[in-house]
Amino acid sequence: EDGMDEAMYKVLTAVFKHKEFKSKLQKQATRCVLHGNHDIFISMPTGAGKSLCYQLPARVGKVGVTLVISPLIALMQDQLDHLDQLKIPSETLNSKQTVTEKKRVLGDLSSAKPRTRLLYITPEQAATDSFKAIIDSLFKKKLLKYLIVDEAHCVSQWGHDFRPDYLKLGQLRRKMPGIPCVALTATATAQVVTDIEKQLLLKAPVKKFKSSCFRPNLFYDIAMKEVIGNPYEDLNQFARSALNCLKGKESEIENWSEFGCGIVYCRTRNGCDEVASHLNQLGIPSKPYHAGLKNDVREDVQSSWMEGRFPIIAATISFGMGVDKANVRFVAHWTLPKSMAGYYQESGRAGRDGQKSYCRLYYARNERDTVAFLIQKEATRFKKVDKAVIAEKQKAAQKSFEALVKYCEDQDCRHWSIARYFGDVKPDCEGACDVCKDPKRVAKAVRDLQTGSYG
Ligand code: ADP
Ligand code: MG
Ligand code: ZN
Repeated sequence: EDGMDEAMYKVLTAVFKHKEFKSKLQKQATRCVLHGNHDIFISMPTGAGKSLCYQLPARVGKVGVTLVISPLIALMQDQLDHLDQLKIPSETLNSKQTVTEKKRVLGDLSSAKPRTRLLYITPEQAATDSFKAIIDSLFKKKLLKYLIVDEAHCVSQWGHDFRPDYLKLGQLRRKMPGIPCVALTATATAQVVTDIEKQLLLKAPVKKFKSSCFRPNLFYDIAMKEVIGNPYEDLNQFARSALNCLKGKESEIENWSEFGCGIVYCRTRNGCDEVASHLNQLGIPSKPYHAGLKNDVREDVQSSWMEGRFPIIAATISFGMGVDKANVRFVAHWTLPKSMAGYYQESGRAGRDGQKSYCRLYYARNERDTVAFLIQKEATRFKKVDKAVIAEKQKAAQKSFEALVKYCEDQDCRHWSIARYFGDVKPDCEGACDVCKDPKRVAKAVRDLQTGSYG
């Protein structure tokens, strides 16, 4: 025990350059992974430092490859860059690689003592025959250390981000009996957890490390788009107040890093363009980001926003996965997201640095009807999956959307509504939401919405 803890701290400080674990839970989870005696489920909010829980154990010992399943190449690249800085040999195998690169990685993996510590792949890649052969050979040589499934909620049809390819991970798992599996996510309801255990064949007793989803530095509120007079002006004021930038001051600012930045999520490309254009007119520099832009333009928008050259990005939800920016001072949803879990994840990109940050959702009933319609239409998207699964997925999507509508129209503490959805206890909001801060004002807005006494 003590020897292992010593090794763990040594790697934490010498390799990862952290003085301490970020939390007791991070430490306990890392230790449990290191011991390697159990399958493990880890659920902690965004920014809590889940990656360390497997990256550290992957670095302990002389050899061994830890296989990491991650849903997006962009997400992986972020991790690989970070690991590269820490000088932990890590690789990926994907369809975008050159033949030479692929050869180099495969060469290392087939050697007697591979340098590679972490191997990142997408679930699509994991399902290929050539990859299964690699796994077989690593397993036979006793060089496979862990199977890590990041963003594990993607495995569940009850989750908000279901990926059919994650369902094939059970097959992969069967090829490596006895190898500990670690599933990680920031968003899991009780139902999603059960699903993850089932799909990934996690072996009982599964060790679970789950922290509360409560983020006390985030202030949550709802703005009734149909009730407030001028939504664009409201957004302008909201952004200025979150960034602490008074009207007129913006012209003097060259770098926004010290003010922080914000994200406005919009459902459509058009919406992104319009929001950006209105905010610019109101004096706050803003740019759209969506799939309709040319690749180089889009990349340029993202990097200059990251560097603080302009503060506000008006984006579709394609933006944000893997964006690890500490000083996001606000996340506004200009249109209604499709699910409660999705909303929690997107709004959760605010305040990773622990500083006070603001999450506002603009709600309108006509918008609600549009999104409900879109969810119904969307079921046809998964062509390769059987009908029963689609039906279940459809039901789950509707339930999660209903929870979000209720979140908007009810007058319960917003943090409590979120916590309840994820099966947590009631958190101490202490005025960190509109309902707790000013219940009368919220009651009036809801009344106005219901009686239609606006416009
Ligand atoms: P998550 O996957 O839970 O959203 P990450 O693993 O991406 O979080 O980590 C978030 C940030 O926290 C990263 O910048 C990481 O370097 C940092 N971090 C992780 N563990 C520690 C620690 N023990 N001390 C300080 N910073 C840490
Ligand atoms: Mg992560
Ligand atoms: Zn509250």
